[in-house]
Amino acid sequence: MTSLSVTKTSGGAAKLSERAVQALKGRVRGAVLTPGEDGYDTARSVWNAMIDRKPGVIVRCAGAADVRAAVDFAREAGVLLAVRGGGHNIAGSAVCDGGVMIDLTPMKSVRVDPHAKTARVEPGVTLGEFDRETQAFGLTTPTGINSTTGIAGLTLGGGFGWLSRKFGLTSDNLVSADVVTADGHLVRASHAENPDLFWAIRGGGGNFGIVTSFEFRLHPLGPEVMSGLIVYPLSQARDLIPRYRAIMAAAPDELTCWIVLRTAPPLPFLPKQVHGTGVMVLAACYAGLMKDAAAAMAPLRGMGKPIADVIGPQPFAGWQTVFDPLLAPGARNYWKSHSFAALDDGLIDVFCKYVSALPSPETEILLAQLGGAINRVAPEATAYPHRDAAFLVNLHARWRDRADEAKCIAWARTLFDACAPYATGGTYVNFIPEDDKTGVARAYLGNAQRLAAVKTKFDRENLFRVNQNIRPMR
Ligand SMILES: Cc1cc2nc3c(=O)[nH]c(=O)nc-3n(C[C@H](O)[C@H](O)[C@H](O)COP(=O)(O)OP(=O)(O)OC[C@H]3O[C@@H](n4cnc5c(N)ncnc54)[C@H](O)[C@@H]3O)c2cc1C
Repeated sequence: MTSLSVTKTSGGAAKLSERAVQALKGRVRGAVLTPGEDGYDTARSVWNAMIDRKPGVIVRCAGAADVRAAVDFAREAGVLLAVRGGGHNIAGSAVCDGGVMIDLTPMKSVRVDPHAKTARVEPGVTLGEFDRETQAFGLTTPTGINSTTGIAGLTLGGGFGWLSRKFGLTSDNLVSADVVTADGHLVRASHAENPDLFWAIRGGGGNFGIVTSFEFRLHPLGPEVMSGLIVYPLSQARDLIPRYRAIMAAAPDELTCWIVLRTAPPLPFLPKQVHGTGVMVLAACYAGLMKDAAAAMAPLRGMGKPIADVIGPQPFAGWQTVFDPLLAPGARNYWKSHSFAALDDGLIDVFCKYVSALPSPETEILLAQLGGAINRVAPEATAYPHRDAAFLVNLHARWRDRADEAKCIAWARTLFDACAPYATGGTYVNFIPEDDKTGVARAYLGNAQRLAAVKTKFDRENLFRVNQNIRPMR
């Protein structure tokens, strides 16, 4: 290698000398990978197979000092910079073409303090790894529903899952964070230190710096929770969703139930003749005492005559992996999402109409239930403003064959438009696809101005721009 082609922050092309790359290698503990080197292709591949970008340099950071060195390197060379946590972002913002990719995946430490009920977590940790360490002490904090998602990107955008109605968003449980800012300094963000930065990183994404350590508040839970799936024929969805709506309106915060409308995969507990037919799946979890769980679940379980009901006690960490096989990396994916304050009858009609014409076997409508503790936080208390949303839908088109691409994307877009009259107008920043130009405004609503001010203070030159970008004020 004599020199390396890279992308400048401005978008233009430039060359990096071999000497500059060698100097970077000398400054970091972790590996520095360039195209063609062993491990380069693995490090640049992300969850969504639609994304195939080739960074000029990948810095596999071993610690905060490596992150600082890589930030200094990119800033001084004027090279585009992307930051990778778990690599799950649908827009593929973990990776950029031609720039420096700061890969945090080697940073895997989770240190639980069972007495203080806190955990110190490095940014390469996945949700499954977090569950493994915290559940060893019968503790947890709310995260997402797929164990291979990265805790870093999830937390910085908000983060919700089975426990959020009881304990709030993942970001609501952040106590402090260590952040490498655009000038290469390491600062602490908490209520007491840099409170403006702390406010912004709880929902504002990776716009303000690179988090090298998260400190979370933990809550006792499990190790077993009552949880599982109830599967109905899709033909019953129009009758059952309004009944679900009434049951969940009266449900305690401990109970969370999401709806998945899709084609039945060949799950072992489903009769063979159901495989490949339309189903409505209720996925439910009770995050409270086991002795109260059966009574709380009873209304959901008594709604009708299901094809299968596999609700029961199981380890929480195991329940967190239940959707993993359906969400494995390798497929092409396109998402659109809406938030809803309520489930209108008209919206249920829209879901039923579009799910009867799914464009591929793996495409699904996933309706997440929010509310509870999430919505008892004021919209301006953190950067995440959607404290009025009771439900969030992810219109998840998923396919393998490129020939299906156009019809899958078109299905998600037209369904998104059809749902719009019933939606709050807000959107979850972590679900915004690459082509959505209005997503950032809908993600931040009334908090947008304040976020721009914090961005200007901590990243005036917009070094951290490969993300759902909040532009600094000029
Ligand atoms: C299968 C699947 C299931 C999901 N389920 C849920 C769910 O249940 N609940 C939920 O809330 N979300 C869920 N998500 C969305 C998830 O929150 C986002 O995809 C999130 O961006 C993932 O974070 P990551 O670290 O894996 O992603 P990455 O793609 O690595 O990172 C995303 C962005 O975050 C920023 N970033 C990452 N790490 C850092 C850091 N340490 N410091 C600063 N910036 C950083 C960067 O800007 C980066 O571009 C799911 C996603 C997938 C693919």
